[in-house]
Amino acid sequence: MKYDAILLRYGELALKKKNRRMFEEQLILNIKEKLQLFPNTSLEREFGRLFVVLENEQEPEPIIEKLKEVFGLVGFSPARRVSSDLEEIKKATLDIALNQPSSYQSFKIESKRSDKQFPIRSQQLNHELGGYVLANTERFAVDVRNPDLVIHVEVRGKFSYVYGNDILGLGGLPVGTSGRVLLLLSGGIDSPVAGYLTSKRGVELHAIHFHSYPYTSERAKQKVVDLAHLLTPFSGTIHLHVVPFTEIQTEINQHCLSSYSVTIMRRFMLRISEAIAKKHGCLALVTGESLGQVASQTLESMHTINAVTHYPLLRPLVGMDKVEITKISKEIGTYETSILPYEDCCTIFLPKNPKTRPTIQAAVKQESALKIDELVSRAVEGTELIVCETKHEEEFDYF
Ligand code: ATP
Ligand code: MG
Repeated sequence: MKYDAILLRYGELALKKKNRRMFEEQLILNIKEKLQLFPNTSLEREFGRLFVVLENEQEPEPIIEKLKEVFGLVGFSPARRVSSDLEEIKKATLDIALNQPSSYQSFKIESKRSDKQFPIRSQQLNHELGGYVLANTERFAVDVRNPDLVIHVEVRGKFSYVYGNDILGLGGLPVGTSGRVLLLLSGGIDSPVAGYLTSKRGVELHAIHFHSYPYTSERAKQKVVDLAHLLTPFSGTIHLHVVPFTEIQTEINQHCLSSYSVTIMRRFMLRISEAIAKKHGCLALVTGESLGQVASQTLESMHTINAVTHYPLLRPLVGMDKVEITKISKEIGTYETSILPYEDCCTIFLPKNPKTRPTIQAAVKQESALKIDELVSRAVEGTELIVCETKHEEEFDYF
């Protein structure tokens, strides 16, 4: 069977009355970006509803797969679009019924008549269409309480839409509607997931990575570039700032107590992140920390590290355990890259006994041996910008 359109649903936006227009416009831009891959489509907006019109027998499935990456969309329905004529609607309803998984055995019709000029009331239309499906199929029974399949019929002026069950989208808010953040992106499992979840709330991502060449390899840096690329189908373009961190790590290693080296290193990360965030208009920092996972993720540790910045620090994974985080990382496709065994700057110079309950006072004392401002400025000046855009190569597999 050939479908004529895909109806797009966007739930949460409806709640944001005042900003609705802005949200819709951003959502439309983000959808259009994905649709560029499909020349036989156009996006239309009618009666506060968005739908993708399919031309030349374009299949809906590959399009839905792509649109599943767009935050803000909650559901998709491949639909028949026919003229608002009872016979046409009947045929389309039967087509939809016949084109369902064989496990579906019960159904009901749910009609909506937005166009009151259409002569048949919804209730009666339900009966007529239900009867028509029963008369022309073998396997279906009607079940109005708990059907396997709901066939929706919407009569809207010139056209009517007929479609089956909803396919779920990601939800969230359209990227570009909530400002910009700076994600501290390591090569691990957690921070890409943190970036994904923040992006889901509509923010645009910049990312920052600390690299200790030659202690960490080019390949370790490339892994982070790859991870950023893997996030872009969801987040859009990511500006990745790669910071040379070798000098700072060496200085810490030479001048500070080894039990405080992780704490001090992270305080430097935050100072530099704040400077880069300011430079690029990011209003918050994001990390992949959760609580209690490792020595540097105790409350005392967060408190001592956090003291160097006034910037809001978002930790979207704070309440999750590793199993939950790993599950998301597999779903979004970053897991396989995250587990590649390349050194991170946090693992070189790792002390035997990192302090699990560091204090601000002791950290400040240890840092007094370092020229903090100079070190930070040099790192910021040496930062390299890599613009990661959505890769389209693999997406052309559909053709
Ligand atoms: P991840 O899996 O994200 O690496 P982790 O469980 O290894 O996290 P930590 O090593 O304690 O935890 O790092 C905590 C957070 O600090 C990371 O999630 C990330 O946001 C940030 N971070 C750590 N190393 C780097 C780095 N080299 N560059 C940028 N950010 C980093
Ligand atoms: Mg890590």
